[in-house]
Amino acid sequence: MTLPWTLADPLIVDRSAERRELDMSHADAVIVREGAVLAVDGRLVEVPASERPPAALVVYLGSDAGRDLVAVVPEDHGFGAERMVGLRDLMHAFAGRGDEGARDRELAATAVALTTWHANHPRCSVCGRPTEVTRGGWVRRCEADEREHYPRTDPAVIVAITDAADRLLLAHASYWSPRRYSHLAGYVEPGESLEQAARREVGEEAGLTLGALEYVASQPWPFPASIMVGFHATVADPTLRLDQDEITDARWVAREELDAIVESGEVILPPAGSIARSLLDEWVAG
Ligand SMILES: [Zn+2]
Repeated sequence: MTLPWTLADPLIVDRSAERRELDMSHADAVIVREGAVLAVDGRLVEVPASERPPAALVVYLGSDAGRDLVAVVPEDHGFGAERMVGLRDLMHAFAGRGDEGARDRELAATAVALTTWHANHPRCSVCGRPTEVTRGGWVRRCEADEREHYPRTDPAVIVAITDAADRLLLAHASYWSPRRYSHLAGYVEPGESLEQAARREVGEEAGLTLGALEYVASQPWPFPASIMVGFHATVADPTLRLDQDEITDARWVAREELDAIVESGEVILPPAGSIARSLLDEWVAG
């Protein structure tokens, strides 16, 4: 599968874990706050070290061609306020800019994922005391019981499902905006494999029994802490039994009817830059 955001390639920015303990006052900064990053015209802004605002939190992102980069959460909530853009809204712009956009996506996704984790996990999950930021922002440490806490990534599966006629299943979830359709997806639960999670979710949500499952690609999805793991699967029996709580509509779509239902506004597809859209584009391309 050809990913528009080069997710199958090595990381673009070297995370340089050995530099996480160092003073980073010389580093240029990505500005991030509450899931939004400082961006202009769909491009991530990197603020020179000399112009960095006073920080509530600094996280080391890595070194790019010998240049250190950090994510900074400004103390002043008003800093850059008019240029802060939600990462979800930037994914489309990043995806349209090739390798340069892939670099921005990588930095922004890491910055948002880490700073959101800090915001949501200020205390030790064992004893409840406040924890300290350490190792460049990649660990929080509890001084009371010496436990170290690491940022989490929660796996979720997303499955592009086709039937024997090569029609694609498009589903609408109750919590999505009207007419928005995508593939079935869900979180992996403790004690199951990715494949088992895919089979269980699809069974629960649509009453389908998946045949062969094929791994396609994955995408970090820091909203707030997921990685989406994409599969393709086929079903022998396309009979739908929707759970109606979570999935309120689903339909089998043939390639030749997709354009018409999109143009009429009957169906809104997942946005460019998401793995959901890439899975769909792959099916369209046959
Ligand atoms: Zn503790």
